Parts: sequence; structure tokens; C-alpha cells
Amino acid sequence: MADQHHHQTDVVIVGAGPVGLFTVFECGMVRLSCHVVDALDDAGGQCTALYPEKPIYDIPGFPRIDAADLVARLKEQAAAFKPVYHLGQQVQAVEAMSEGGWRLTTSTGTVLRARAVILAAGVGAFGPNRPPLDGLSAFEGRSVFYYVTQREAFRGKRVVIAGGGDSAVDWALSLAEVAARVSVIHRRAKFRAAPESEARLNALADAGKIDLVVPYQLHSLDGADGQLTAVNVTTLDGAEKKIEADVLLPFFGLSMALGPIADWGMALERNQIVTDPATAATNKPAIFAVGDVVTYPGKLKLILTGFAEAAIAARSAYALIHPETPLHFEYSTTSGVPSA
Ligand SMILES: Cc1cc2nc3c(=O)[nH]c(=O)nc-3n(C[C@H](O)[C@H](O)[C@H](O)COP(=O)(O)OP(=O)(O)OC[C@H]3O[C@@H](n4cnc5c(N)ncnc54)[C@H](O)[C@@H]3O)c2cc1C
Repeated sequence: MADQHHHQTDVVIVGAGPVGLFTVFECGMVRLSCHVVDALDDAGGQCTALYPEKPIYDIPGFPRIDAADLVARLKEQAAAFKPVYHLGQQVQAVEAMSEGGWRLTTSTGTVLRARAVILAAGVGAFGPNRPPLDGLSAFEGRSVFYYVTQREAFRGKRVVIAGGGDSAVDWALSLAEVAARVSVIHRRAKFRAAPESEARLNALADAGKIDLVVPYQLHSLDGADGQLTAVNVTTLDGAEKKIEADVLLPFFGLSMALGPIADWGMALERNQIVTDPATAATNKPAIFAVGDVVTYPGKLKLILTGFAEAAIAARSAYALIHPETPLHFEYSTTSGVPSA
């Protein structure tokens, strides 16, 4: 296609999370070209946006690998097939083309025509649940953050963490090593975190290294020009407390909005796309789905499961695109990595 906003490819992969990246590789191995779209500015999905510095322990062959490292290796593995990335744009519309295949349009006006689509959209266009506080947006990105991408940025700071789940507890434990002070606000005394983590949290609280502010919830923020000076909290009975702070990290989970994908007529079950695990097919012809976005009986939301689904989806897309040339099954040890 002539202009820079119009592209033609074998497969469009929606989502450049770990599973989308490995789908590029699997498609390349069966000689299908790919374009990849992601709403985020960087590849890696949840691994990059939510836990780049956390070690993952259940990737086969890697006893321990930081999420950011895994993403870097997946990108390197995919690079052999010269995928074209369209980052910082959301796929908004998908239309069937009369000649077969699909035409996708993104939020920045990129138009992609593909013989097949593989959705690797994870939890969808995900975003944090924001606490309902007056004036919050002025502080966001300056002294209120929903993700920690570099814990060093919090060295020497007075950090207030709000929330009672794994993210709140894990980051409290981690940031206690670098921050000047860590306070954890939760509306109950009991946390919803792994028992060992909660035990460590309580031990650090007993040792005076972390302040547990329970049972309190966020009430208001003090500060000016985007810089927080204190977080005000309150109990259900109205008792108030002021916590001096440089930074607030609200960890109230992610909203799992599938976004525009929910309107494409896909069969959904609890906001996830129903696939046939034998083929990764959805209810729409030439649209396959892999990774966290899919559901079928026994689905495990793990990266390794998504990797296996990627291999299946690539072969299904191949069979659809090249019905006249059945794929000859080969191990990578025999085929090597074909050139793009
Ligand atoms: C804190 C934490 C720890 C974890 N630890 C582990 C672990 O130890 N082991 C493990 O196996 N798993 C772990 N997971 C789960 C793992 O991260 C997910 O299973 C994995 O990220 C799923 O990959 P994915 O590529 O399917 O989706 P995602 O990583 O969610 O990526 C999907 C991408 O699609 C993009 N997208 C969605 N909709 C659109 C659209 N319309 N247009 C453009 N882009 C779109 C999103 O922006 C996103 O980048 C953990 C998750 C979290 C949050």
C-alpha cells in the first residue's frame, strides 16, 4: 500500500505483550509476516507496564528472569522476522473485507489489511482503578503513580501506598528498602496478599520500618503544582489523620475493560474471548486469540500457556492463508530460523 498509514500483511497481532511478541516468532516460523499494534508506548504488556523489575520463576528454561529481561529476549527472538510495530495506538475498528480478511483501523489513523488477525490483547486496554479524590489528576504522573517502573525513583522519599492486595504489599516490602518512610493505608486490618508477604509486612511494621495505617481510607490530598505534601485519611467513623508524603501509590487493581474489542461481535464469556483451544479460533472467521484475553475450559492465565497458544494460532493462520500448501511439520532444530 502506498502511504505510510496503510499497510498490508499476512497477520495483524493486536497486543505486544509477552504472548503477542511470541506470536510474531511463531508466525515467522511458518513464514507469515506480521504487523503488531499496541496501545502502550512500549512492547511487553503487563510485564513492562506493571512489574518490569519483578522476577518470574515459571518460564521454562529460566529458573528466574526479570519481566523486563523476558520482554527484551522475546523482542530479540521476534526481530528475526522483521515485525512492524505500531505502538501508542489502540485498534478501534475491525471490518471484514469483501475479498476476505480484515481491515483494522487504529486510534491514530493507521489502516492495516490482513489475511488473519490474532488477538493477544491481554486484559484489554487496561488502566488503573483511580481513587475518587478531588484534584487527583493534577498530581498524577508527578507525585501520584499507579505503576512502579523504577523503584530507585523513590529513594529517600516519603511514600504512601494505598490498597490491600499483592501489589500494595509487594511494593511496600520492596520500597521499604529504599524509601525514607513507607506508610500503607488499607481499609481493613487484613490484607489480600500472599500469606508470606503479609507476614513480612507485619514484621516490618512491628520493627517500625513500615507504618500500617489501618483501617483507614483515602480522603484528600494536600499539595500544590502537582507536588504532594500530605495524604489525608479517614476511618468509617470519620476519624481523620494527616500523613506527610512526597508520593502516593494507589494500588486498587486494574480495570479489565476489553475496550473496543468487546464491540466486535466476538463470543465473550466474562469479558474474555471464547476460543477453541485446538485451533485458537474465535467465533469470527480468520480471527484467532491467544494469551490472557482468551477463555476455554481449563485455561490457565500464565505466560507459558499463552506461548503454546501462539504456536497453535500461527499454524491455524497458516492453514487459512495457504490452504493449497499444507504445512510440513518441522522442528526448529531442523528448519532453523527462516529468514524474513
Ligand atoms: C504483578 C503480576 C505478576 C505476574 N507474574 C506472573 C508469573 O510469575 N508468571 C506468569 O506466567 N504470569 C504472571 N503474570 C501474568 C502475566 O503477566 C500475563 O499472563 C501475561 O502478561 C499475558 O500476556 P498477554 O500478552 O496475553 O497480555 P498482556 O501482557 O496483558 O498484553 C496485552 C497487550 O495488548 C494491548 N491491547 C489490548 N487491547 C488493545 C487494543 N484494542 N489495541 C492495541 N493494543 C491493545 C495492551 O495495551 C497490552 O500491552 C503476572 C501478572 C501480574 C500483574
